[in-house]
Amino acid sequence: MTRIAFLGLGHMGLPMAANLVKAGHEVHGYDLVPAAVEAARTVGIPIADSGADAVADAEVVITMFPAGRHVIAAYQDELLAAARPGTLFIESSTIAVDEARTAHRLAVDAGHRNIDAPVSGGVVGAEAGTLAFMVGGSDEDFEAARPLLEVMGRRIVHCGGPGLGQAAKVCNNMILGISQIAVAEAFVLAERLGLEHQAMYDVVSQASGQCWALTTNCPVPGPVPTSPANRDYQPGFAGALMAKDLGLALQAIEQTGTDARMGRLAQQIYAAFADGEGAGRDFSGIITSIRSLP
Ligand code: NAD
Repeated sequence: MTRIAFLGLGHMGLPMAANLVKAGHEVHGYDLVPAAVEAARTVGIPIADSGADAVADAEVVITMFPAGRHVIAAYQDELLAAARPGTLFIESSTIAVDEARTAHRLAVDAGHRNIDAPVSGGVVGAEAGTLAFMVGGSDEDFEAARPLLEVMGRRIVHCGGPGLGQAAKVCNNMILGISQIAVAEAFVLAERLGLEHQAMYDVVSQASGQCWALTTNCPVPGPVPTSPANRDYQPGFAGALMAKDLGLALQAIEQTGTDARMGRLAQQIYAAFADGEGAGRDFSGIITSIRSLP
């Protein structure tokens, strides 16, 4: 049994914290938003009066916040000073690689331990305890965190030193954004050439164009009955989240001077999608904006 402070009880954090409670850990939760606090209470997560209160007696602090600025502000403003020396901070939000490294340095300078451990698998994976964790940090801290990550996830990969969990996440999601656009463009081209969706799917899903964006997240209704296209693009993974992750990819592309033209273009396409009707729709709904272009 580990004493855990879980901060950020939103779409992802709430089910992740609930799984830790179910596994017998002593969890003290905290969120700034009263609705998130109420939802957490209803699933039996005890709530602290503040972030500082939640971490004061914890052995492990898990954060699951919207973005890097929330993480760095919370670390600096209250969490690092309130925690006992040597506390293990597991930072699971999706944030920029350099923000993860800043958070790591702040934690270590304050006498704590820290890993970045972003996830993929979405709310469904968080609820089922089947998330994938990509971890950056020392071998020792990775091993200390592993039993808790195994409660919340199924695939746990140690990617290297601080920030490299976020690096893996940003690279994966850049591939995903690009490939979802490629699959959508190919379906629109197929439609205009008179090729049926099912025929196109039957060929490509068994050929070299096969990928997750086609065989799981198929952007047209029919061939994959569970894909968001069959429910008017209810997410799934919302366009706003893809736009956010591609923004982090763009940051990394620019910082490293990488010639990633497809990544840059995908970022522009999803930024425009998320600014318009796509923010709350699954990111495979990009096909409707491709189709609507003259
Ligand atoms: P969310 O907005 O639903 O939840 C974040 C919560 O953090 C909010 O309830 C907010 O009030 C809380 N918060 C912010 N600052 C806080 C502070 N200082 N103290 C306490 N609580 C604070 O977001 P989400 O969908 O749960 O995503 C969380 C992270 O996981 C994001 O970084 C996101 O990019 C990443 N992610 C999300 C998904 C997904 O499908 N939703 C999938 C993979 C990764």
